[in-house]
Amino acid sequence: MQIIQPHYHGIARTAQDYERMAMSGVVAVGEPAFWAGFDRAYPETFLDYFRQISEFEPTRAAEYGIRHFCWVAVNPKEAENPELSYEVMRHMPAFFDKPTVLGVGEIGFHKTSKNEEEIFEAQLDMAIKHDQLIVIHTPHLADKVRGTKRTLEILAHADVDPERVWVDHVEEHTIREPLDAGYWVGFTLYPITKCSPRRGVDMLEQYGRERILVNSSADWGPSDPFLLQECILEFRRRNHSLQEAIEIFHNNPCRFLGQNPKFDIKPIRVEEIEPEPAVAG
Ligand SMILES: [Zn+2]
Repeated sequence: MQIIQPHYHGIARTAQDYERMAMSGVVAVGEPAFWAGFDRAYPETFLDYFRQISEFEPTRAAEYGIRHFCWVAVNPKEAENPELSYEVMRHMPAFFDKPTVLGVGEIGFHKTSKNEEEIFEAQLDMAIKHDQLIVIHTPHLADKVRGTKRTLEILAHADVDPERVWVDHVEEHTIREPLDAGYWVGFTLYPITKCSPRRGVDMLEQYGRERILVNSSADWGPSDPFLLQECILEFRRRNHSLQEAIEIFHNNPCRFLGQNPKFDIKPIRVEEIEPEPAVAG
């Protein structure tokens, strides 16, 4: 089955991931800009990082036949340094013209602090002004409810089309509000903490498949990009059709990301990938 990994941090992973993803049906990945595991000291370090994900990483993925797209942003953790953030932002629009850059993200909250809020709003405005898609990081664990609530308040006051916003890392207790408000939501599968593949399928069964994206964690921390395949297996094991699986794990990313014409992979029907077997004479 053909799969799209909408949220993948290739720079923290080895080429073996790409090889195994290619063998297990992944045709494209999206790489939002994120924290590097440490706070960067210079704006230029961000710019080199943006070059890495917009120029180099697509060539690494292409060796395995995988399309690689990315996003640029100052992530919430480093938004604690507004001076550095504004300097990085000054250079971001130049990246919007690159052939694989889809928009602005991940922006949003980590600790839901004042500085984070200021930089979140500034980047949101920039994305709207440049007609870019938006991916929003919601805080992990303890601060998730408060951070998600504040995120939705900020979005409600922004002049943004909800269809072009993806609120990511939702969980059972935060999925409903952004969905009801018309945004896309994503949830992320983790090997140890947070959402498991089974809980993921439970959410799909409860909330349907409209405007939902599924990611597996793939970064420098404990993570496993193949939880996506595990989630698909669990989904199919519960008797959901192959077409339903394709709708969620391939076609939904096409629908959201395809709002930027640079993402040109189209939704598919099961007949296109698995032709009817010939009738035996
Ligand atoms: Zn991320």
